[in-house]
Amino acid sequence: MAKVIGIDLGTTNSCMAVVEAGEPTVIVNSDGGRTTPSVVSFSNTGERLVGQAAKRQAVLSPDRTISSIKRKMGTRDTTTIDGKDYTPEQISAMILSKLKEDAEAYLGEPVTQAVITVPAYFDDTQRTATKQAGEIAGLEVLRIINEPTAAALAYGWKSEKKEATIMVFDLGGGTFDVSILDVEVGTEERDAYQVLATSGDTRLGGDDFDERIIDYIAGEFQKENSVDLRKDRQALQRLKEASEKAKCELSSQVTTTISLPFITSVDGEGPKHLEMTLTRAKLEELIGELIGKTKVAVQDAMKEAGLGYGEVDEVILVGGSTRIPKVQELTKEMSGKDPRKGINPDEVVAVGAAIQAAVLGGDESQDIVLMDVTPLTLGVETLGDVMDSVIPRNTNIPTRESRTYSTATDMQTTVEVHVLQGERPRASQNKSLGRFHLTGLPPAPRGMPQVEVTFDIDANGILNVSAKDKATDKEQSITITGSGQLSDDDVNRMVDEAEKNAAEDAAFKELADARNQGDSAAYGLEKTLNELGEKIAEPEKASIKEKIEALREAVKGDDAAAIRAAMDAANEEFSQVSQRMYEQAAAETGPQPEPGPEAEGAGVGATEAPGQAEAGDDVIEGEFEAEDN
Ligand code: AMP
Repeated sequence: MAKVIGIDLGTTNSCMAVVEAGEPTVIVNSDGGRTTPSVVSFSNTGERLVGQAAKRQAVLSPDRTISSIKRKMGTRDTTTIDGKDYTPEQISAMILSKLKEDAEAYLGEPVTQAVITVPAYFDDTQRTATKQAGEIAGLEVLRIINEPTAAALAYGWKSEKKEATIMVFDLGGGTFDVSILDVEVGTEERDAYQVLATSGDTRLGGDDFDERIIDYIAGEFQKENSVDLRKDRQALQRLKEASEKAKCELSSQVTTTISLPFITSVDGEGPKHLEMTLTRAKLEELIGELIGKTKVAVQDAMKEAGLGYGEVDEVILVGGSTRIPKVQELTKEMSGKDPRKGINPDEVVAVGAAIQAAVLGGDESQDIVLMDVTPLTLGVETLGDVMDSVIPRNTNIPTRESRTYSTATDMQTTVEVHVLQGERPRASQNKSLGRFHLTGLPPAPRGMPQVEVTFDIDANGILNVSAKDKATDKEQSITITGSGQLSDDDVNRMVDEAEKNAAEDAAFKELADARNQGDSAAYGLEKTLNELGEKIAEPEKASIKEKIEALREAVKGDDAAAIRAAMDAANEEFSQVSQRMYEQAAAETGPQPEPGPEAEGAGVGATEAPGQAEAGDDVIEGEFEAEDN
């Protein structure tokens, strides 16, 4: 059977691994490297370079070299080279093609299937884009899995039986993520990995540390030579490489020398050389504030998971920047635990992906269940700018949830399904993921049609939404592929905003609910009055109509309590009239059964169409916006 490989498609570097004879192994690339820079460069002759060769090209032709493309996944932000536009999927596919070729050379057989990892905060647009990049590269992507889950998997695989809370601390070249997971491993049949919470900073990583070193060295050089190396592109690129190298060396030694001969030349003075010593202490001073920023995200994730630091059993470090001793100290300071060692931080995610790949490829019989969560609530817009939640945030995926909605106006033949993501009750304040129409509903009074909307999130985290008219079985659906990026910063911002605006949001929801219920009650009462026709005396009819009018007026206003009072008054009036009608009928014809629920309940606070909800059905009372009358 052909091997399925695991790929960590990183912002700075990518890595791949495969399970051979039951052991995960990192696949060495054609340059002999265990990781491949996620860089693509187009030479002047049109040749396409990927990996180390492309990274070297960055010095000579920065304009024709593309790095950090992962940041653009899920957007329509194209890169133009020689008049040709390339999408982020296409650039990522170039990296994946190189990885695929190298894996084929290493394994000596064609590779057509892979598991690819993505950050936990990637939304479905970004996941879909990643899957498409794999497909463009000729890879069938069997599963997209979250990076922290993959890291936990690498350590949990074939471990002794245990249940543990794990913190995955991932500090790479450009991003920082922290995730808290619950794992249950070493079981006879299936190991389970559940992400409890995730947080981070999409603009924090080793590149920022390099920047601080560059600024320091260039500043010192400028003081002595009055030349700003940052203004000379080639000198800056050399300085960049030397700074990164010095930073890496300072992870294993306490002092290093940066030596850049002929870095520049000064008129009348000739060539200048840069020679400088950098100590670990100086580096720590330069990057201390940046490293400190990770603390905030860790606190955030712990709070979200509802745990205290003492409850973390293990810490797993991911990403090249976690090799920095100060970073390791900080994680120990926070968790009280020494980080797990044994798998390289830049390889651990690919190793986890390879394990999942082997399980999916049938090479391993042990089942693994990855219970990832939705980072934000998913729902639809209902009448009055209301966000109606279908799948709450932090629900384990894969998941499938259905809700039944109805129409807002009589004879409405089309409903619009507007799919939203976010924590605010007001639809317009959440992120719009897409919209579609279900047409051809048979004309019927409002509230009669039953449209079942189903949200389905697959194991890759990709969302599919469908809407079905229960009467005709007509169905429409979309897979969410619209553009728009949702980073973990966005997720945090949206959750924060929801918390800050909780009081205002609650008031909005209260008013929206009152309006919906008031409107439905008025409609229901009026309908029942019409149905009763002459069975009800004119003066009584008029008094109920008056109350209905008062209710309609209240619904136009902004006072939820007034709407509810008007609704109660209308219902009360109706109920008194029904009671009198019942007593009168009883007096005329002798004993009668109690008034039926239909007469009594026709308009009582119902937004649900009379007779529509089946007992125990998952019917909710929202209504779609009127589209078509
Ligand atoms: P990643 O995105 O996980 O590939 O991490 C890449 C980042 O890790 C780059 O900023 C590297 O400079 C940094 N890095 C790699 N090795 C080391 C090391 N030994 N010490 C400090 N930083 C490192």
